[in-house]
Amino acid sequence: MMAKGDAWGLVAVAGEGNGEKFVYLFEEGNAGMRNLLGGKGSGLAEMTRIGLPVPPGFTITTRACIYYQEHQGAYPPGLQEAIQAALRAVESKTGKRLGDPENPLLVSVRSGAAISMPGMMDTILNLGLNDQTVRGLSRLTQNERFAYDSYRRFIQMFGNVVMGIHLDRFEKVLEKAREKAGVEFDYQLPPQALQELIGEYKEIVREATGREFPQDPADQLGMAINAVFDSWNNPRAKVYRQVNKIPDDLGTAVNVQVMVFGNMGDDSGTGVCFTRNPSTGAKELYGEYLPNAQGEDVVAGIRTPRPISQMARDLPQAYQQLVDVANRLESHFGDVQDIEFTVERGRLYMLQTRSAKRTAQAAVKIAIDLVAEGKITREEAIRRIEPQQLVSLLHRGIDESAKLNVIATGLPASPGAATGEIVFDADRAEALGREGHKVILVRTETTPDDIHGIVQAQGILTSRGGMTCHAAIVARHMGKPCVVGCDALHIDPEGRTFTVGELSMHEGDIISIDGATGRVIAGTVPLVDPVLTDEFRTLLEWADEFRRLGVEANADTPQDAAKARDFGATGIGLCRTEHMFMAPDRIPVVQEMIMAATPEERRAALDRLLPMQEGDFYGILKAMAGYPVTIRLLDPPLHEFLPNTEELALEVERLRRQLKAYEVVSGLDELLGGQLAPGGAAGRAGLEKELAVKEQVLRRARALAEFNPMLGLRGCRLGIVYPEIYEMQARAIFQATARLRREGVDAQPEVMIPLVGHVKELAITRELVVKVANEVQKETGVHFEYKVGTMIEIPRAALTADEIATQAEFFSFGTNDLTQTTFGFSRDDAEAKVLPFYLEQKILPENPFAVIDTGGVGKLVEMATRLGRAARPDLRVGICGEHGGDPESIAFFHKAGLDYVSCSPYRVPVARLAAAQAALRER
Ligand code: ADP
Ligand code: MG
Ligand code: MG
Repeated sequence: MMAKGDAWGLVAVAGEGNGEKFVYLFEEGNAGMRNLLGGKGSGLAEMTRIGLPVPPGFTITTRACIYYQEHQGAYPPGLQEAIQAALRAVESKTGKRLGDPENPLLVSVRSGAAISMPGMMDTILNLGLNDQTVRGLSRLTQNERFAYDSYRRFIQMFGNVVMGIHLDRFEKVLEKAREKAGVEFDYQLPPQALQELIGEYKEIVREATGREFPQDPADQLGMAINAVFDSWNNPRAKVYRQVNKIPDDLGTAVNVQVMVFGNMGDDSGTGVCFTRNPSTGAKELYGEYLPNAQGEDVVAGIRTPRPISQMARDLPQAYQQLVDVANRLESHFGDVQDIEFTVERGRLYMLQTRSAKRTAQAAVKIAIDLVAEGKITREEAIRRIEPQQLVSLLHRGIDESAKLNVIATGLPASPGAATGEIVFDADRAEALGREGHKVILVRTETTPDDIHGIVQAQGILTSRGGMTCHAAIVARHMGKPCVVGCDALHIDPEGRTFTVGELSMHEGDIISIDGATGRVIAGTVPLVDPVLTDEFRTLLEWADEFRRLGVEANADTPQDAAKARDFGATGIGLCRTEHMFMAPDRIPVVQEMIMAATPEERRAALDRLLPMQEGDFYGILKAMAGYPVTIRLLDPPLHEFLPNTEELALEVERLRRQLKAYEVVSGLDELLGGQLAPGGAAGRAGLEKELAVKEQVLRRARALAEFNPMLGLRGCRLGIVYPEIYEMQARAIFQATARLRREGVDAQPEVMIPLVGHVKELAITRELVVKVANEVQKETGVHFEYKVGTMIEIPRAALTADEIATQAEFFSFGTNDLTQTTFGFSRDDAEAKVLPFYLEQKILPENPFAVIDTGGVGKLVEMATRLGRAARPDLRVGICGEHGGDPESIAFFHKAGLDYVSCSPYRVPVARLAAAQAALRER
């Protein structure tokens, strides 16, 4: 380390010559030493280095703290001497000495880890005061009141933070002193009252700890430094680290800094401010200050601070200095800063600077503005924004300035805010929704049967389930607000109520949910609309310049496709067709198709579905004209389209009982004129018919039931066992294509076969699709291009990707199923019963359904891509699982050399940015 001369002609010698350097004067450090000096220390060092007015001081390294932790409170060799040397250096700089009764040096002792961490020790101000030095301070400043007030504050802070005495005890006697003196505020207490108060404070210390308040400033300093070290392991800090996944062995640095005083009169003050508005990004100093006050007064809320703009009038010179410093700091760090300062008798001192936390909206605006001002490059702007943060810009959010009655909090499963009437079942949600009501669907959990209700609801609230339960996935996909796993809710669907603690809410009552935070709020909340601002669009366009990965969307409807396009998707990577079968006007036909006993019967039902499907594809292909639309043929097991067998069985049972009743009463009833058995013989016949139908459906549903539907008759297996289904779908796709082509629309269909494990499965279905394409081209006389490819979601397909590629023009990794099949996890079961333990015990680092498991599933992805491309160099390779919208996973797919990722429309902007960052990281 270089010893540098400074303005006082002194050489910084702290800790040198004793092996590791544990203490750095501010002028010896810099912004790059964050890990060693902590955030606060490195910031102070950097400000000192560039010549800003920072009160002198030094930083004890995080490594000294670690040593202290590992050696039961012992200092590393040389630390004590280094502290002394640094203190001497600071003393000679200021001409004051710690403990000097005539000219005492006062310091603050401040903790500061590399990662900002609430829960650590509070700062101690005015250290160095005792019964003697307080008199010296009084003489020096010609301000007795100020001196005794500073001493009073010091005893209180030190007593609380270092000696562990409850603040209340001090506050109580302080309050009494105010009463006695007949004043409202502490700073109005006269010196005499303060001196009495100090006596009482010392008594409190004596009583609480059995010892005197330490009078030797060297003792005070040593105790304060140890208290900072110890605070690294206080329960608050430990919990904070656990929750935020901060390693336990980083340690905290200790900053010892010469005091400056904002409480020396009306020409003094203290404040905090941002160099730009952190919620809008506007270029203006934003913050507050308090005249005649010491640091902690601003945060403590004892007096109401004034807006920073008012400082321009109160302290014009210091204000101008602050504006200059703010500009310099921004240019220097190339980013908006959050700063703390104090003005002592008209002079500005900087006490802290750090990168400012900001809303997503501000983050985008600031990045764009900084580029325009030439402070950062476009690359830097792209690098700096957290992709995940953008999600909040794409959904309606709660107006946070409103007063909210939060009744419970669940998991924030899908961002956005929604307000509506409570409904407890999907049918009712659908009915009310269609009538134009705004409803929130409240369920214990949702299943695929609820989809029609979810579609109509403004938002979904469940009492069970995790971030990736059915409700969460569906809601995120639809971009609908959703809160799940809110276990404080006790839902009684029959009674159409739920209770939370004492409160009970009924169907029709209004609630709001905030899917970004998980809050459940009684009543309505004012909402603010999302806007894809010009700035946001610009930023994403810059991202597009850097990224190599394409970004497509998972979309099943023309509306979703249009939304995705607006957000910048260049294609649909996954268009699922099962939702098209679920629509209320179609489900009877679909059930008819499933109930069919012969292929002919099945075909007849499918013929009725054909025009409907053709209409679906027409709409989507048109909405995505000019870009590929990857349509997956039917994937789920057929029983999903039939009513639930248990409910059916109950219904059959009920009908049987009713019929029996007819038999018993029919004789009697003739006499009574048909009161007991309405409709007489005709009523009975109707019942019999209904029963017969229900019995048949039940039989079929039972026949279709599987032990493990996920691994049963689904995907391409369905298309092989019932080729009529895929044939109809292919026809619908190609007829729509031909129609669009004729209309001059550039429709680009890609037919995707799901769940292929063996090349022959693909060969057979592919042949079928090609046959239909040829037929349609011949029938319509329209030639069109199309592709046939497959999902890779079974390990066997990945392992034999070279063979599969001979039959596929594209691969799309279905990483949801591929994760299930590779781990042998059933997702819902694993997430409910296994993964929480695995994550807690660190068996897995992350939920593999949220972040791609690079070591296993990812390996299959890499291998299949390599094998596939070896067999077919122009193979188009993408991914359409949920991982396609996860920034970390996107970085992996970039590295694996995929051509594109596909994700929910609402995640398209996130993916565009993440893909650009992945490309930039490679540079
Ligand atoms: P935090 O990490 O909680 O922000 P700080 O160490 O920044 O704690 O201290 C809190 C406040 O104490 C600062 O904003 C500042 O106003 C005041 N402060 C700290 N050190 C000094 C000092 N040397 N002189 C004057 N005020 C100080
Ligand atoms: Mg601070
Ligand atoms: Mg699948």
